[in-house]
Amino acid sequence: MRAHLLNDATAERYRRSVTEGVERVADRLATTKRPFTGVTPEALAPVVSAVDLDRPLGDASAALDELERVYLRDAVYFHHPRYLAHLNCPVVIPAVLGETVLSAVNSSLDTWDQSAGGTLIERRLIDWTAGRIGLGASADGVFTSGGTQSNLQALLLAREEAKADTPTKLRVLTSECSHFSVQKSATLLGLGPDAVVSVPCDRDKRMRTVALAAELERCRAEGLIPMAVVATAGTTDFGSIDPLPEIAALCAQYGTWLHVDAAYGCGLLASTTRRSLLDGIEHADSVTVDYHKSFFQPVSSSAVLVRDGATLRHATYHADYLNPRRTVEERIPNQVDKSLQTTRRFDALKLWMTLRVMGADGIGQLFDEVCELAAEGWRLLAADPRYDVVVEPRLSTLVFRYVPARITSPSAIDRANLHARKALFASGEAVVAGTSVGGRQYLKFTLLNPETSIRDIAAVLDLIAGHAEQYLGGENLVRAS
Ligand SMILES: *Cc1c(COP(=O)(O)O)cnc(C)c1O
Repeated sequence: MRAHLLNDATAERYRRSVTEGVERVADRLATTKRPFTGVTPEALAPVVSAVDLDRPLGDASAALDELERVYLRDAVYFHHPRYLAHLNCPVVIPAVLGETVLSAVNSSLDTWDQSAGGTLIERRLIDWTAGRIGLGASADGVFTSGGTQSNLQALLLAREEAKADTPTKLRVLTSECSHFSVQKSATLLGLGPDAVVSVPCDRDKRMRTVALAAELERCRAEGLIPMAVVATAGTTDFGSIDPLPEIAALCAQYGTWLHVDAAYGCGLLASTTRRSLLDGIEHADSVTVDYHKSFFQPVSSSAVLVRDGATLRHATYHADYLNPRRTVEERIPNQVDKSLQTTRRFDALKLWMTLRVMGADGIGQLFDEVCELAAEGWRLLAADPRYDVVVEPRLSTLVFRYVPARITSPSAIDRANLHARKALFASGEAVVAGTSVGGRQYLKFTLLNPETSIRDIAAVLDLIAGHAEQYLGGENLVRAS
């Protein structure tokens, strides 16, 4: 069994084994014609269940053959130009190369004595990101597993900084379009059930600052403590960006921690033409960025940044076996002192390789391309009588709904749109997302693939209309009979 351990004696086996895996994936990518096969859980579950985990195959080639059947053949492929559903990007090759290196060396970024240069590389990238945001000389941060964890950590720091005796009085103000992880974080932090105050959005799905001002004033009048305002720079559904300068001014006025959730919009930090959309983010006390959304990085790659690095002490705990107090005096850089995690992947290496090969402008260019595609797609939708489209995109999402020419009840239109989404998924020809707007069923494209063309968008809109019309035709037949 020792032949399977990666070490000096097995370097050749490692090279062959990993190369074989790379070949399989490369073949898949080269021959995949659709983003998905449309396989159902019922069809795939028996294939996975039939694998006897207590009878190993003993050999990587055989395991890879099996993997073709249980996973690779029916996986959902984000690189395909007709995958238009969630905030998943196609990944850049330098980042995948970084992934290969980091898992083999297997550094753990909790302490210097488990990572050495890895810690310094992560710190450089935190400084680089904070610099792009404009957080100032005292900024710091740490890589996390994703936007959910980044938001949780930011709100933990905000709660501690609020220094409240009565946690039930703490309030977090955020727009009705913000990510649900804000609510989840509030629960995990032990805040009361009414802790998250939902601030309404305007027609463009941006937080209404007049309403925010009113809520802050109401908190003050009622003796409540607004511990944080969470502004969103790129809402998950609409890509809308809250008015950051106005929100920052209100936070300054009320002495409230400003967290900017830029999990999606962070790609603008690399853009040479759209960076101004994030103006005001430099006033934040903390910022969430998801490199695995708009920096074309593989999952996971995310970070939380803070204006005042000293606030990260609220996540610091010492263990004699790991990061004893003396290591602080000895100025040994232990990232665990800043993180919610202990053992932690060297995800930063992927971004490092990306910046060293492509540069930030290269990433920004790719993100600009998808933003331009979304603008073009919006014009297409707005001119198409079959569709009702919601907001003009700032980033790269389009939210729309099929509406038939003849008078049809709103609930039948809801069902037709839902049906179209499911039918498309089952066909595997394209994958689109759905959401609700004003209680009605809408469809959503999240465009993160520069290879997707306006022709792909037009073709998928035809497919959706076809499925929706077919459904409504069938429903009329049922009603007539
Ligand atoms: C995706 C997203 C999150 C959550 O990030 P994960 O990486 O999925 O945990 C948080 N906020 C916004 C605005 C998002 O779009």
